[in-house]
Amino acid sequence: MRLAGLPFLLMTALLTAAATLWASPAEARSAVTGAPLTTCVAPARDGDRPAGMFAAAARFDCVHRQAWFGPGDYWIISQPLSGVPGVGSRSRVRIGSLWQDAVTLYALYPNGKIRGWRFDGRQVSHHLQLGAMIEWPLPAAIGPPVRLMWHVQGSANLRGILVAPTVATPQESNAANLAMTAIYAGFGGLCLALLVYNLAMWGALRHPFQLAYCAMVAALTLYALSSSGALAWLNPNMLNNDRLRLNYVLLSTAAATALIFARYFFVPAVTAGWVGKAVNAIIAASVIATAFVALFAPWHIRIFDTAFSLTFAAIIVVVFPIIRRARAERSPYLWLFAVAWAAPILFAALRLLGNLALIPWSFWLDNSTILSMAFEAIISTLAIAYRIRLLSLERDEAIEREIIAARLADTDPLTGLLNRRAFLRQAIGRATNQSLMLTDIDYFKRINETLGHDGGDEVLRVFARVLRQAAPSALIARMGGEEFAILCPADRAIAPDAVLAKMRSARMPFDLTVTASIGACTGPLVTEADWKAMYRRADRALFDAKQGGRDRARFAPPIAVRAA
Ligand code: GH3
Ligand code: MG
Ligand code: MG
Repeated sequence: MRLAGLPFLLMTALLTAAATLWASPAEARSAVTGAPLTTCVAPARDGDRPAGMFAAAARFDCVHRQAWFGPGDYWIISQPLSGVPGVGSRSRVRIGSLWQDAVTLYALYPNGKIRGWRFDGRQVSHHLQLGAMIEWPLPAAIGPPVRLMWHVQGSANLRGILVAPTVATPQESNAANLAMTAIYAGFGGLCLALLVYNLAMWGALRHPFQLAYCAMVAALTLYALSSSGALAWLNPNMLNNDRLRLNYVLLSTAAATALIFARYFFVPAVTAGWVGKAVNAIIAASVIATAFVALFAPWHIRIFDTAFSLTFAAIIVVVFPIIRRARAERSPYLWLFAVAWAAPILFAALRLLGNLALIPWSFWLDNSTILSMAFEAIISTLAIAYRIRLLSLERDEAIEREIIAARLADTDPLTGLLNRRAFLRQAIGRATNQSLMLTDIDYFKRINETLGHDGGDEVLRVFARVLRQAAPSALIARMGGEEFAILCPADRAIAPDAVLAKMRSARMPFDLTVTASIGACTGPLVTEADWKAMYRRADRALFDAKQGGRDRARFAPPIAVRAA
């Protein structure tokens, strides 16, 4: 396989690209827009009041990572806002959406007053921005606050208690929404086109993997709708935690259908034996882990989420034996598969590391599935085009073979003229009156005896050539032995004497003079019965010509055209 190195080269390139992307400040180019805030954490206690908490600096832990604290209720306080550039116009407070029952934003104003806005799990849905960011618009009339604090209730603390807090200007917030709209609308449009395209292709090609692919695209479209927060726009009364649950279900559906796709995409040998069993086991494990998240989360979400992440790790791992076997089987589509799936697999791996808290949370990583699948989709379209090209090449070859076979079946191998069967197929059913000449070489047995059988064959070949020259537009066939038929429309009939003259003057092996006799007949040739009648008469005329001394033509009385 000449191209085998290509996928690995591309994977390396993508790895580098992904590492760069991940290392760069993602917040600058994402739904995480505005000025980022640093925060400190205090576990909530009974009787805590916001005023007291704004004053209780000693209660807050600014050292440990949020995930270190475990699930529960928390206070999260921002740095003083005085140092934030342009704070006067930053009237939007944004955070990333996470597993929580309710979150209240408290703003401390220069006059010591505190205002609070509580979003419970349902109200959060009303305030979701694209990219699944929760946003509070601060009242403009009061002026900018000096500090912010959140009270998070029922935090599952899976990826943190409160992530990506920023203060943004309305313009920044709108621009982020617009950018996210562009990304998700692009992805949605791509998915829709892919669904229609692949379903239509499935109608034409009927490969089971195309249906698996359609199912995967559908699951990803819904995942994009749910994970972007757009679903909350469609159904603002849904609980945000329910939307997060749905994310798990849709992502694992997409992963399972992707595996089923890979299974059907390659020849069965690739997923035979333990690889196929492993694929089934991973799908089953993924379904179970997802069911636990869907039914019980946020209860023990860390365990279920880790189980969920591990099934993703297993998917990434099982891809390698599949690729190795596909290479061994010399699957012609392997390199396209590898190129197309390198990005999604890679980003799934990076996202997995993020989920397992081995690398920090990043908005782009959280949304990488969408972007890498868009890339995969585009390459897959090219893969399908490539596959169609191979199929059409195969089809063209088959058509060519069929044409050659048909030609062989229709021709007389010795003379290259039509054989009797092909002649009859083309002769019977002609609308106008036809003229038939049956031509039989005179004393051919003697020619055979003189020249030998091979010499006789050569005489037959020359005879056929002469007939073709004498009647270039007629239907000519070798009916058997040394008997030939010439058929043409009666109004353009060829004079038998002209044929005989050409015959006589033809240059034969050993300058032998070969003559023939002709029996001719004119009549309709619409049905098989017409043919039989015409043939019988022409044959009798031929017999008369032979009887009359050979080297001559005889005409049978024409058959009258039947009244229509
Ligand atoms: P007539 O003038 O009455 O037609 O006499 P004829 O000898 O031509 O007729 P007859 O039907 O008795 O003999 C035809 C011969 O043609 C007999 C057969 O061996 C020979 N023949 C048939 N097919 C072939 C062939 O493919 N090659 C050769 N060399 N001879 C063939
Ligand atoms: Mg003969
Ligand atoms: Mg004969």
